[in-house]
Amino acid sequence: MAKLTVSDLDVKDKKVLMRVDFNVPVKNGVIGDDNRIVAALPTIKYIIEHDGKAILFSHLGRVKTEDDKKALTMRPVAQRLSDLLGKPVTFVPATRGKQLEDAIADMKDGDVLLFENTRFEDLDGKKESGNDQELGQYWASLGDEFVNDAFGTAHRSHASNVGIATAMKAANKPVAAGFLMEKEIKFLGNAVDNPKHPFVAILGGAKVSDKIGVIDHLLDKADKVIIGGGMTYTFYAAKGMKIGTSLVEKDKVGLAKEILDKAGDKIVLPSDSVVAEKFDNDVPHKVVEGDIPDGYMALDIGPKSIKEFEDVLKDAKTVVWNGPMGVFEMSNYAEGTLEIGKFLGTLTDATTIVGGGDSTAAVKQLGVGDKLTHISTGGGASLEYLEGKELPGIAAISNK
Ligand code: ADP
Ligand code: MG
Repeated sequence: MAKLTVSDLDVKDKKVLMRVDFNVPVKNGVIGDDNRIVAALPTIKYIIEHDGKAILFSHLGRVKTEDDKKALTMRPVAQRLSDLLGKPVTFVPATRGKQLEDAIADMKDGDVLLFENTRFEDLDGKKESGNDQELGQYWASLGDEFVNDAFGTAHRSHASNVGIATAMKAANKPVAAGFLMEKEIKFLGNAVDNPKHPFVAILGGAKVSDKIGVIDHLLDKADKVIIGGGMTYTFYAAKGMKIGTSLVEKDKVGLAKEILDKAGDKIVLPSDSVVAEKFDNDVPHKVVEGDIPDGYMALDIGPKSIKEFEDVLKDAKTVVWNGPMGVFEMSNYAEGTLEIGKFLGTLTDATTIVGGGDSTAAVKQLGVGDKLTHISTGGGASLEYLEGKELPGIAAISNK
């Protein structure tokens, strides 16, 4: 069912509570990558350009001790947001109380306020992460409407997304998705539930065990499932092939066998690999076909596999990619991921989607992200979406 979005709301003169994902890397008060702040700008601008009052909040890192508060304050984030918006942002160093309530009461239409890290509430009995009902109700009482734009935490049931949404709805106040959330639902949701065929899934990364849910769900939906990366060799073992010292999950070999039996020729495995004697960029490496020789580990798919995968992908209308094809962090084993990324960029007729924390990092690092249709902003959240799970943060948004 379609979800209510911010453009369905009348935000004029309204106090719009907005859950953003400002969980950015901060070191000594300095923000590293500010992509997540940039990604929230369209929704924030929409609210203020339509004369709403934008009251923003997010978690930042994990707050376990009183000491963590110094490193994990939202103050530098407020400054960066102000720079990006080109207007002042009021920062309130509290998550509740008179100072926050007074600051909200003082807001004029078009103003922006950011309050302190929602996880500061975790020091008091895990109120944020444990979705404390009273906390969700309190935050809901601060505004007229709630917009959730934090896809990255949508797989969690916290007070700042699910708790507040539940309380808003109970008070007959609207709960809507922001534009970023809307985009994630549109691309990830449509790709999996309503794909244009041929639909090809590319699954890689380190472990079969991390991806069982994704493999199962996508095997049902996709026309072909390409397997690459470290998980390949658990499948090789299941086929009785030699794997040398490659990554393997011995306790998942049986499961890999079951998956292969069930999937028949839907699964496409690499036919060659780049192998080395050690998990190291600076050791001799070579390409081998099929079996991995004793004393060698497979660290990337080989050139023949790249061609074979491209052949499967060339007519695809939908491609979902999760998991790098090799150890892309090392230049000698990045080729498979790089070439598949480049090839996806040439599929102008297809919707191409990347989800997963390391996969997103890989396409960005290798510079192949620009030509893809959608790169998800949520690591864990996108994986759970690809598993076909209902994400609590999305479920809590009002339907249209
Ligand atoms: P994502 O975060 O996108 O879901 P994963 O966490 O499953 O992806 O996998 C990413 C990791 O898999 C990378 O760090 C990469 O180095 C590793 N990897 C890929 N291929 C291999 C391989 N052949 N052997 C060992 N590790 C691999
Ligand atoms: Mg990962």
